[in-house]
Amino acid sequence: SPSLPCATVSRRPLRPGFYVARAMSSHIVGYPRIGPKRELKFALESFWDGKTSVDDLQNVAANVRKSIWKHMADTGIKYIPSNTFSYYDQMLDTTAMLGAVPPRYGWESGEIGFDIYFSMARGNACPNSHYIVPELGPDVKFSYASHKAVVEFKEAKALGIDTVPVLIGPMTYLLLSKPAKGVEKSFCLLSLIDKILPVYKEVLADLKSAGARWIQFDEPILVMDLDTSQLQAFSDAYSHMESSLAGLNVLIATYFADVPAEAYKTLMSLKCVTGFGFDLVRGLETLDLIKMNFPRGKLLFAGVVDGRNIWANDLSASLKTLQTLEDIVGKEKVVVSTSCSLLHTAVDLVNEIKLDKELKSWLAFAAQKVVEVNALAKSFSGAKDEALFSSNSMRQASRKSSPRVTNAAVQQDVAALKKSDHHRSTEVSVRLQAQQKKLNLPALPTTTIGSFPQTTDLRRIRREFKAKKISEVDYVQTIKEEYEKVVKLQEELGIDVLVHGEAERNDMVEFFGEQLSGFAFTSNGWVQSYGSRCVKPPIIYGDITRPKAMTVFWSSMAQKMTQRPMKGMLTGPVTILNWSFVRNDQPRHETCFQIALAIKDEVEDLEKAGVTVIQIDEAALREGLPLRKSEQKFYLDWAVHAFRITNCGVQDTTQIHTHMCYSNFNDIIHSIIDMDADVITIENSRSDEKLLSVFHEGVKYGAGIGPGVYDIHSPRIPSTEEIAERINKMLAVLDSKVLWVNPDCGLKTRNYSEVKSALSNMVAAAKLIRSQL
Ligand code: GLN
Ligand code: ZN
Repeated sequence: SPSLPCATVSRRPLRPGFYVARAMSSHIVGYPRIGPKRELKFALESFWDGKTSVDDLQNVAANVRKSIWKHMADTGIKYIPSNTFSYYDQMLDTTAMLGAVPPRYGWESGEIGFDIYFSMARGNACPNSHYIVPELGPDVKFSYASHKAVVEFKEAKALGIDTVPVLIGPMTYLLLSKPAKGVEKSFCLLSLIDKILPVYKEVLADLKSAGARWIQFDEPILVMDLDTSQLQAFSDAYSHMESSLAGLNVLIATYFADVPAEAYKTLMSLKCVTGFGFDLVRGLETLDLIKMNFPRGKLLFAGVVDGRNIWANDLSASLKTLQTLEDIVGKEKVVVSTSCSLLHTAVDLVNEIKLDKELKSWLAFAAQKVVEVNALAKSFSGAKDEALFSSNSMRQASRKSSPRVTNAAVQQDVAALKKSDHHRSTEVSVRLQAQQKKLNLPALPTTTIGSFPQTTDLRRIRREFKAKKISEVDYVQTIKEEYEKVVKLQEELGIDVLVHGEAERNDMVEFFGEQLSGFAFTSNGWVQSYGSRCVKPPIIYGDITRPKAMTVFWSSMAQKMTQRPMKGMLTGPVTILNWSFVRNDQPRHETCFQIALAIKDEVEDLEKAGVTVIQIDEAALREGLPLRKSEQKFYLDWAVHAFRITNCGVQDTTQIHTHMCYSNFNDIIHSIIDMDADVITIENSRSDEKLLSVFHEGVKYGAGIGPGVYDIHSPRIPSTEEIAERINKMLAVLDSKVLWVNPDCGLKTRNYSEVKSALSNMVAAAKLIRSQL
């Protein structure tokens, strides 16, 4: 029975003389490669800057891999992954393995080296994705062009560690690709399957001859809504590889969500597979499917340790789940695993010396999660680490009962919120009229998204203030001078709605999190975003309150410097949520509503202080979108509701802006309209055609829209003519009354000379078109 005390569950009768362990084995889907102190990041960047050699880079990388493998082996993990290391990302590695290099890189044949690899990485056109999206067309010639998988397998073997090489599965690879430029939309990426499978087969043969006994295919695409023909292609692909898979144990790993029933059926019917991996943290329905049908004799890799969060596992709860699973699929058929690659969590808690003890005791980063997986497995073989288990349950209990976590008043406020909807009382067109009376803006008003260049000086000043090396008075004075510079510049350029430039902010989430209760910050809790880019998400551990106003001081100081409207600048609740590690002890939307209430107080305080234009950035709204279509509506409903909560209480004359960065709005346009902002600025410089249809919707909506007129991610200065042409294109579908003119995102990554020229051309273009209206 699942409720048996764990210690008695796993004992086998002892044979005289020695003890036979009934092993449950352990597996890790993948591991962070950036290094506990971002060693790989720094090695990459200094290599790219030409400061270090290829050898230096390779040495750092080899050390990172070695310490990961050693840690897993020393801990006792049975199935240790290899080839989950990457110099950039695993999709790009797969592109290299398949030789699918777009022609513009001038590669023809042979093994792909760092030059081609990194030029693909850095010449990529879509910074909104966490991987380099393969661009495939009917003419791509595939060949076995990167032997990385086998090289890493051998490298581990030479260290005495037998690993499970990991490949992104052929279906996931193709379905996460996009048709190359110039290839019609109708091009079916799956039609390339017959061309890539021969390369996969070569890789398998190579791995086998190097001594590999296992192969792991990551096929997270299976959790998406695949249609019948895609599922058919899936089984065909694996049947096609059958002969090459003979002699290997095959694991197909899925993660990030439930596997839908149809996909589950397809998966279970694959003959060549030894084991299946499931995310049992995010996928609770999969558990029901397993209960209904799991093929006899196959292994179940049970992902019970969360790879996407930083919380210590509730070991005794996991033990129960594992016991239930073992009862279903049979003894020795369950392998304890992580819900997905540990790539999505921070690396090692050991390096957190500043976190307080209590909070730290509630956490587990990748290195600690490996230990958890192992401890769970061991407890089934009669080797339960009682001390570890009892300390774990004490920690779980302390987290549950801590007054730092629960604030009854906040819980009540949120409970009350959910009962009603929140909307501004007047309709958007009426509000815009009231605002225009007050603001008196020209047609095609110009503005920017918030930040101005973040200089090294500014970063230093903030750091010194934080370290208490400079006084508050000096700090405020420095920031004030920076604001003055930014305000003067915008006035000289002739921008209509100004920003203060965000000089006081290190990061758009951290700045707010640091002033809200319920948030904690790590020193080294970095997670790779892509390539050498890392983020350090705050940890939301408790109910959220706003002890005092966060931006009113800064915004009113800035507003006093100019007659023109100065935007108050806030980060929205959904973005704060999506860019943090969130609590796993209450639903995400509860946490989001709590943040919304805090931001609402801030909005209202800004309004009281005389700030009449307030921008609430929801840069990451789309990032939280669930993978499964069936779950998307629920998310969008509460996310948009949370946004509306922040500003439903302001007067008609207060103009609420929002800003979003991403390139694909089509499927969520109704939700964007539902946000009911007065003005929305969006990043669009890369996806014009898609945008047009979105803006047709926008016209109906009636609010102001500012589709970025130039790309701030590039140092290139757009000319006046070029911007004017874009504005004209937009005017072909949008009423001139609703169009705003602005860059597509904040300017913090650019330098002043770029910003001055680009904005000056932008204002000139707006004036030119205005004069022709
Ligand atoms: N206001 C922020 C800025 O300008 C918005 C950044 C973003 O959208 N990522 O920096
Ligand atoms: Zn943006």
